[in-house]
This record gives sequence, structure tokens and C-alpha cells, in this order.
Amino acid sequence: MAVQSMPGMQTAVLKPMSLQEAWLLRAGREAAAVPVAGGSLLRTQWENGAALPPYLLDLRGIPGLADIAADSEGVLVGSQATLAAVKRSKPIRERWPLLHEAVGTIGGPGIRNLGTLGGNAASSIGDSLPALLALEAGLLWYDGAGLAEQPLDEWLDERRTSAEPERRLLAGIRLRESRSEPQAAGGWHCWRKVGRRESFTPSLVSFAASGTMLPGQG
Ligand SMILES: Cc1cc2nc3c(=O)[nH]c(=O)nc-3n(C[C@H](O)[C@H](O)[C@H](O)COP(=O)(O)OP(=O)(O)OC[C@H]3O[C@@H](n4cnc5c(N)ncnc54)[C@H](O)[C@@H]3O)c2cc1C
Repeated sequence: MAVQSMPGMQTAVLKPMSLQEAWLLRAGREAAAVPVAGGSLLRTQWENGAALPPYLLDLRGIPGLADIAADSEGVLVGSQATLAAVKRSKPIRERWPLLHEAVGTIGGPGIRNLGTLGGNAASSIGDSLPALLALEAGLLWYDGAGLAEQPLDEWLDERRTSAEPERRLLAGIRLRESRSEPQAAGGWHCWRKVGRRESFTPSLVSFAASGTMLPGQG
């Protein structure tokens, strides 16, 4: 683990090399150690006057956490995969085109090169969330003891009602083959984002839907 102090700043950047190390570094510091992925959303909060925390837990150095890996269930998008990498991913473009389209409307190219899908989802306000909800995505959380998947809709409900900040670390986002949209099999989707400007800004409203046209409905 490396600790980096920024000159003239009271914030130390902790650089764990595993989720377990990240968890141990956070223990005892709790809310004082804020996880950071691309930092592109946190940056806007600091620019708007939010105080910098004493510690930033920089998750970018953890090996494998930026991978987009296909397996028998579908695809696991590591929480540190950038929005640009998600947009470039062939399996996502072909099998979950709703997510491909949605991430392409988040920020401009510079923001998509920096910002991650994990940071977008973990913020609980990101524009990827309606698309991930429509795809019934799962969130893979690390809680110090191991990894456990939680349906995204359940987590969002919890966030709405809980006064406690999320303590777990987001390891990845699960897309299931059963919710893919093979066009040849009648898959379809719809994505709309309404903002104050056409692009590069967070939305006022985002809408996502996906489904399959059954034989005889076309
Ligand atoms: C010019 C500009 C335009 C933007 N446009 C959009 C837009 O159109 N739509 C949109 O949704 N957003 C937009 N954003 C906000 C931001 O860029 C995106 O939401 C981005 O996906 C956030 O990802 P990040 O990796 O930078 O997250 P960060 O800023 O690093 O983190 C975001 C939040 O998630 C938490 N977090 C990050 N990783 C984890 C983890 N692994 N486990 C637990 N918690 C974690 C952080 O503590 C923080 O609370 C914009 C920002 C800018 C500056």
C-alpha cells in the first residue's frame, strides 16, 4: 500500500492493492476515508463547496477491478472499468446495447475516460442507473468478509430509506445473459435522457426500458 500526501493539502491518498487491504485501511477511519474511482463526480462536489475528506481511498490500483469479464452467467463489469471501456466493450455493445447507449450519453469523452461505471452506480444518482435497473443488474459488494451480490433495485430502495452511508466497497456490476437483447431473438430497448443541455451534463430525467418481442407480436 502506498500513502500519498498532496502538497498543501490535508488529504492523504491511500492506495490499496486489494479489496481486503482497502477494507482494512478504511476500518477505524470510516466516513473519513472516502472511496474514489475516477473522482469525476467527487470533483464536482468539492468544486461546489463540499469539504475534502482527510483520506481518499484510491481503488484504481487494485488488479482486476477494471476488467470486463464474460462468464457462463453473462458479464461482470469491474467497478473500476471506465465508462469509455464499457462503451468500447464488444459483448456489451452486442448483448446489452441499452447500457452501451446509456453510457455514451454520460459526460463528454474526457469524463468517460476518467469516470467509471462503479462510481456512477455507487453514487446512487448516476445516469447509468435506469439502464442497469431495466437490465436487472446486480451489484457485487465486498464487506470485509467476502463478496456478495445484491439486486440493484433492492440496494436503491435501501439507499432511499437508510440514514447510514454505504460502508461496503463495490467490486463489480453483474449483467445477466437472461437480460441480454439478442436482436435476432426480438430484443429491443429504449433510452432517453433529458437534461438542461443536450450533452455533457447530468440529466434531469433518464428513462430506460428493454424487452423481447414474442413471436407473433411483430
Ligand atoms: C463535466 C461533467 C459532466 C458529467 N456528466 C454526467 C452525466 O451526464 N451523467 C452522470 O451520471 N454523471 C455525470 N458526471 C458525473 C461523473 O462524471 C459520473 O457520474 C461518473 O460515472 C462517476 O464515476 P467516477 O469513477 O468518477 O466516480 P467518483 O467521483 O470517483 O465516485 C462517485 C461516488 O461513488 C463512490 N464510489 C466510487 N467507487 C466506489 C466503490 N468501488 N465502492 C463504493 N463507493 C464507490 C465515491 O465515494 C463517490 O461517492 C459528470 C461530471 C462532470 C465533471
